[in-house]
Amino acid sequence: MTFLPREIFIDYELCLGCKSCEIACAVEHSETKELLSVLNDPLPPRKRIFVCSAFSKNIPLNCSHCEDAPCLRACPTGALYKEGDLILHARAICLGCGACETACPFGVITRYPNSKVIAKCDRCPDRNTPACVEACPTGAIKFDHRNILEGVRQKAARSLVTGI
Ligand code: SF4
Ligand code: SF4
Repeated sequence: MTFLPREIFIDYELCLGCKSCEIACAVEHSETKELLSVLNDPLPPRKRIFVCSAFSKNIPLNCSHCEDAPCLRACPTGALYKEGDLILHARAICLGCGACETACPFGVITRYPNSKVIAKCDRCPDRNTPACVEACPTGAIKFDHRNILEGVRQKAARSLVTGI
């Protein structure tokens, strides 16, 4: 079997709304990557996953690393760029204009407080498994090969429609 690249799939039915993923994301993208030290960071830690509530469900939103990414198309400097399957951000050439923030249809580009520096999901390049995936106590955030996740997606969709 050929394995396609790994990606994230979120099963909303399993999300408790505990926000462990948000905390793990912010800590992973801090200077020290330590929970107790993050408040001393020069830029306060910023999460790149957002747990929202709608229709009595908890819905974690994160970057889909879109095939034809609106944020990348909106960027006037090329600070957002495609590398493999990921849409990444080069802080050094970012103007802080916010065009990407406006263009993202999922609202998952954010800024550091009191700063123009943007933050977006980079799939945790220093880790084998993204921090949000590892932190989720229920396995609602899955990270696996695309062809394996296909079955998981279909099962989740069936359960949503049939209720079983
Ligand atoms: S930030 Fe938004 S527009 Fe850009 S790749 Fe991620 S989901 Fe797509
Ligand atoms: S804020 Fe940065 S990344 Fe976003 S559009 Fe402006 S220059 Fe590009």
